[in-house]
Amino acid sequence: MFRRQDRVLVGVSGGKDSLSLWQGLVSLGYQADGIFIDLGIEDFSLPSRRVSENFAEKIGRPLHVISMKKELGFTIPDLKNRTQKYCSLCGSVKRYFLNHLARKLGYQVLVTGHNLDDEASSLLGNVINWHLKYLARKYPVLPEGNGFVRKAKPLCRFTAFEIREYAKRKGIEYLEDRCPLSPEATRLVYAEVMDQLEEKMPGTKLRFYLDYLRKAYPIFHEKVEDFMEKPLTVCEICGEPAVSSPCFVCRLKEEFKA
Ligand code: SF4
Ligand SMILES: [Zn+2]
Repeated sequence: MFRRQDRVLVGVSGGKDSLSLWQGLVSLGYQADGIFIDLGIEDFSLPSRRVSENFAEKIGRPLHVISMKKELGFTIPDLKNRTQKYCSLCGSVKRYFLNHLARKLGYQVLVTGHNLDDEASSLLGNVINWHLKYLARKYPVLPEGNGFVRKAKPLCRFTAFEIREYAKRKGIEYLEDRCPLSPEATRLVYAEVMDQLEEKMPGTKLRFYLDYLRKAYPIFHEKVEDFMEKPLTVCEICGEPAVSSPCFVCRLKEEFKA
């Protein structure tokens, strides 16, 4: 996924996955720093930030903190007041900042704490809806290129249960709370279905995911260009890769100024 000498940036949320990942990388000797994005969500962003800052201090590594309010002039609750699609926009804003900062600060790879449960349930959702453009790019390591830094999901073979056990044994203090704005959406239904399958047929999650990577991903990936809705361009304002210019973040910034 990356080399021992690479500078690694860990997307940190304050939850068990990202903090365990950070701990694991540092104890293996990687130069891994963290980045936390403060989304301005009341009773959630502040405790998440505190937990992440305390952890960074404990392991003696820098944590970059980005305030959405400061950078963009609005928060996720502000977005929620305007659109029902705030969750998918939130995901896009987070990805935007992670890439932007990793590039600006010269990190070679950006890693996130997605676990096997996350990957298997989102794969199920993508298959059920035949989201070909996502299936063609759903891989635990994506190379650098077109303005994107290299991305990796080192925990993709570990279950949430295993990571929770690791965090407990290492004495990692993490935040259990879920985001209060989570719409309890279809994503949870897919997660429940995967859990039921796993209970009746142990090993299903890992098999489903790994067989997809080995057998199906290469077939979808070969056609990746055909599944893209538009070719990528570069945002004329911020310089980030985007489907149109100005990018969605720069457009939102303008809208909120108005
Ligand atoms: S659940 Fe909360 S943190 Fe997660 S994408 Fe939605 S608004 Fe953002
Ligand atoms: Zn932009």
